[in-house]
Amino acid sequence: MKLEQERAPLPYTFVAHDEHDSRHQGAVSIPIYQNTLFSFASCDEPGHSFKYSRMGNPTVQELEKRIAVLEGGEQAISFASGMAAISAAILSVVKAGDHVVCIDQVYFGTREFFEYFLSRYGVEVSYVDGTSIEALSSAIRPNTTLLYLESPTSYYFQLQDLKEAAKLAGARGITTIVDNTWASPCYQHPLALGVDLVVHSLTKYVGGHSDVLGGAVIGSSVRVNQLSRIDHQLLGGVMTPHTASLMLRGMRTLPLRMQRLSESVQQVTEYMETLSCVSKVNFPGLANHPQHELAQVQMSGYGSLFSIEVKVTVEQAKAWVDHLRYFRIGLSFGGYESLVLVVGETPSSTPEKPVCLIRLNVGLEDPQDLIRDLGSLEQYD
Ligand SMILES: *Cc1c(COP(=O)(O)O)cnc(C)c1O
Repeated sequence: MKLEQERAPLPYTFVAHDEHDSRHQGAVSIPIYQNTLFSFASCDEPGHSFKYSRMGNPTVQELEKRIAVLEGGEQAISFASGMAAISAAILSVVKAGDHVVCIDQVYFGTREFFEYFLSRYGVEVSYVDGTSIEALSSAIRPNTTLLYLESPTSYYFQLQDLKEAAKLAGARGITTIVDNTWASPCYQHPLALGVDLVVHSLTKYVGGHSDVLGGAVIGSSVRVNQLSRIDHQLLGGVMTPHTASLMLRGMRTLPLRMQRLSESVQQVTEYMETLSCVSKVNFPGLANHPQHELAQVQMSGYGSLFSIEVKVTVEQAKAWVDHLRYFRIGLSFGGYESLVLVVGETPSSTPEKPVCLIRLNVGLEDPQDLIRDLGSLEQYD
């Protein structure tokens, strides 16, 4: 019994279990501290560590503690959106005159942040094929201070070898950031592989219900404290207590939802492979994905977003998608709902042999219904 008391709870227990707390009248979850200001007991003895909600709020702090535990980091800090987290994390590393090495298939918002925002401050960025450590290595310059990764990427689902990339950067004093949104904090832990900072769009799996925006940065206390004091507080894109409460609620079922989504997406992608009009299924959980071995080493499960390359024109793809029953047409992923997006022609597409890229997100519906729905693609076989 005593041993049970002393051992720290495992991460999934930690997110599901709140300690009894008499300060909250035993409320089973932390209340929403819907206030901007915290007054002090006296001029010299505040009596607590909170001052003003832009600098910290108990509900928000509770979420941050849990994300840090799930991600395996010392500390986490949350933001109003994934982009607020990403931009603050990048700004905490680079200064005018620096050079960044970034993977070429990075999230479009991150790419635009580099191209339209950081270019104004004299930061140069090289975009590189992230599947090749040699390509990442040869892009490094004497003034490179940041290696920015996202594994897997969210259209072609290509991986970077995070351990090797972190080693490469670390040996040269370069900071590594990984966008870990796709794998969620359940299935990939880049900090354990030597990466310095992890960023998440909590909007996706942690929120989990397509009703709330948020982001987080996780890393060592030293790095996160520094980021928190300057880039978080002064840029001001902080998470509200109400959002934090919704994120905490999403987090309770995160491991459960990820487990279900992981099983469903495996079934759906294996089915898509059987269709002869589908020339490629881009999903690292499939045995014939070119980086499946690496995926198995650096991830313990898979996200629900994947893409297919189909031997049809964009018009045919749109006509097919318009008639799907369970896949809503839209961007994003990580909620309860299945989604589809016609991305466009692949680089290998020709007028004689058209190939269209379609991105799909598997939701919490019964995978048998989803497979039956997607089966209408057989008309092009
Ligand atoms: C959605 C997303 C973002 C941006 O997050 P927001 O919460 O929309 O700001 C960044 N990276 C990836 C991989 C994403 O999917």
